Amino acid sequence: MQERIVSAQQMESDDLQLEVGLRPRSLREYTGQEQIKQKLAIYIKAARERGEALDHVLLYGPPGLGKTTLAHIIAYELGVNIRVTSGPAIERPGDLAAILTNLGRGDVLFIDEIHRLNRTVEEILYPAMEDFALDIVIGKGPGARSLRLELPPFTLIGATVRAGALTSPLRDRFGVVDRLSYYSHAELETIITRSARILNVEIRPEGAAAIARASRGTPRVANRLLKRVRDYAQIKADNIITEAVAREALRMLEVDELGLDATDRRLLLSLVEKFEGGPVGLDTLAASISEESETLEDVYEPYLMQLGFLKRTPRGRIATREAYRYLNIQPPHDPQLRLW
Ligand code: ADP
Repeated sequence: MQERIVSAQQMESDDLQLEVGLRPRSLREYTGQEQIKQKLAIYIKAARERGEALDHVLLYGPPGLGKTTLAHIIAYELGVNIRVTSGPAIERPGDLAAILTNLGRGDVLFIDEIHRLNRTVEEILYPAMEDFALDIVIGKGPGARSLRLELPPFTLIGATVRAGALTSPLRDRFGVVDRLSYYSHAELETIITRSARILNVEIRPEGAAAIARASRGTPRVANRLLKRVRDYAQIKADNIITEAVAREALRMLEVDELGLDATDRRLLLSLVEKFEGGPVGLDTLAASISEESETLEDVYEPYLMQLGFLKRTPRGRIATREAYRYLNIQPPHDPQLRLW
């Protein structure tokens, strides 16, 4: 996939060290997601007072909203170590067993993209989560014996784009399940202003607001746009991000006021022009812009739905009146369309 400046996913060109530097470390520094923070603060305090491990936590929602950041913060607030891995990285049951037996009492194990764990690995997790135990089978055939190994109590934090992508036995073993939502413009402004301070670049409130509007409700996108706008300000504009500088830099990056780029517009145009606004099936729509269905569903659609430009219906995807207005195309006089 081509790298997009507005992609919410981690990109190869992202400076990882910088991303880590911008990461808030405590619940207090973490902007937004107020309800989740309130709940977690209580659970963390209760677990600490009892001297127990926190219940297992499942965080879901679109990429770039701060799931990994929150996992690190939970470990920090609990005062324990965190071990970070991801679903696709754990290939065999033995890999997971090695990780689990190395955890300290009360530690956090963070598994990103937990819906991509393979089945045999997942089965190791069930007794580990439920009874803090590892079931090992020794030998094969009729002589095989099962051995139970005790593990220290730990907290599993899983992250995924969709809770529905998890098998139900796995999902049911999480005591805390929370969905992260897109950030408001005001919250993104706070995040951008904080990041600018860390990056040592001067920014005016109107400059931060312009970047916030184009950030697709996503802190990762906000930080990435800020870095590119900073470059522009440094070379073209005395190192100060004013509204004009922010707008000019975003125009150069081909990101519009709503944070949509050429790919989003291509998708909407295809839906409107090739399929008369839908309904059209996911796979057909994805093929029409040469993208994978999964990418369309997890990466492109959520923000377009959030803007109210696209809807998922049982019969397929449809473009809304707002999408037509955005594209500056006259909607067809379809009596059905009026419903939306
Ligand atoms: P996810 O795991 O959901 O894909 P991350 O936790 O990696 O997202 O967040 C991406 C970046 O966005 C982080 O490096 C961090 O700098 C920033 N970020 C995310 N959430 C927040 C927040 N609530 N406040 C400030 N910055 C945030």
